[in-house]
Amino acid sequence: MTDSNRSPHPRATQLADEFKSWRQHLHAHPETAFEETLTSAFIAEKLTSFGLEVSTGMAKTGVIATLKGNKGDGKRIGLRADMDALDIHEMTNLPYASKHPGKMHACGHDGHMAMLLGAAKILSEAPDFAGTVDFIFQPAEENEGGGREMVNEGLFDSHPVDAIFGMHNWPGRDVGTMAMKAGPMMASYDVFEINIDGKGCHAAMPHLGRDPITAAGQVLLALQTITARNVNPLESAVISPTQISGGDTWNVIPDSATIRGTVRTFSPVVQDLVEERLKTVVNATAEAFGCSARVMYQRRYPATINSEAETAIAQAAAHRTVGEDKVDANPESSMASEDFAFMLNAKPGSYVLLGNGPTDGNCLLHNAAYNFNDDAIPYGVTYWITLVDEYLGSA
Ligand SMILES: [Zn+2]
Ligand SMILES: [Zn+2]
Repeated sequence: MTDSNRSPHPRATQLADEFKSWRQHLHAHPETAFEETLTSAFIAEKLTSFGLEVSTGMAKTGVIATLKGNKGDGKRIGLRADMDALDIHEMTNLPYASKHPGKMHACGHDGHMAMLLGAAKILSEAPDFAGTVDFIFQPAEENEGGGREMVNEGLFDSHPVDAIFGMHNWPGRDVGTMAMKAGPMMASYDVFEINIDGKGCHAAMPHLGRDPITAAGQVLLALQTITARNVNPLESAVISPTQISGGDTWNVIPDSATIRGTVRTFSPVVQDLVEERLKTVVNATAEAFGCSARVMYQRRYPATINSEAETAIAQAAAHRTVGEDKVDANPESSMASEDFAFMLNAKPGSYVLLGNGPTDGNCLLHNAAYNFNDDAIPYGVTYWITLVDEYLGSA
């Protein structure tokens, strides 16, 4: 493998200003989960102008465009970008800062859309491959599972791809670098709510009640023994209680207390173990203190797990895009999560990271000072084009 072809695709460089203007337009008009109507219309209009077959309305605001190669039949590849913004009030003072108060593209999905649109434009000009490419724009990646909705609404029945690929910008990695590996890239995302029911009484006479506050304190400590004593030390798991409430005043022991939080794991076996142990530990601890417990445990997103063969193809495309020495083939998995996981549960594929430059001035994902780095656009566009070439073959 050589590093000779490491500059962006010439068309991606020529059209960089146009792609940047799309990104900044999208940045100025952020929309959140399942309400991406202006965004969806903008994307559909661009895709139609490239001469693509476009379908809209899946999972409310999803957009899919299909491009057939001019070299005949072949495999079918799905390229996915996410469309939604966050409920954050932007603090960047950029000339193209959010015009929608309280909403902001603080996760760089504006960049993801611009890069996939750019690739769609360039590939439409010269579809020199055998097979089919689907450009998939999904709503509601943050929290609400737009990817899951698209899969449930039959995304892969109407667009039966052989493999699916996703990409996320990554601040803290240099522009012109990429990272990916087979196996878990992102963790699963589960939430829990624990209600501990006791018996309220006068705080000066605790022996007359059953104190849920003290029981909740013991539950908090006991939960950490699951990761420390039950999970295999070579595996990863996080249990983070993030909210605790109970009681209204100084001198009353309340009837109940509530703990909420999240669990992150990479392996389904560990996920099952943590859920089972959490329920057991909570119930038994509450009972030990004369209380009872009700546990709500909900699995939101599965872990994002890259398949071997497709990740090797993604890696080959990344080597051609940025140079082999600029590809991190063993990035640390992140305990954050991603609803692209639902697509990867349905189809083999790979989720890769694209360097977005320094984190100066709190340029961090989900921060009010965040801004996608336009210098990364030509690399992202080139990766998509090169990936199609790797997967569907060139002329
Ligand atoms: Zn995000
Ligand atoms: Zn994101």
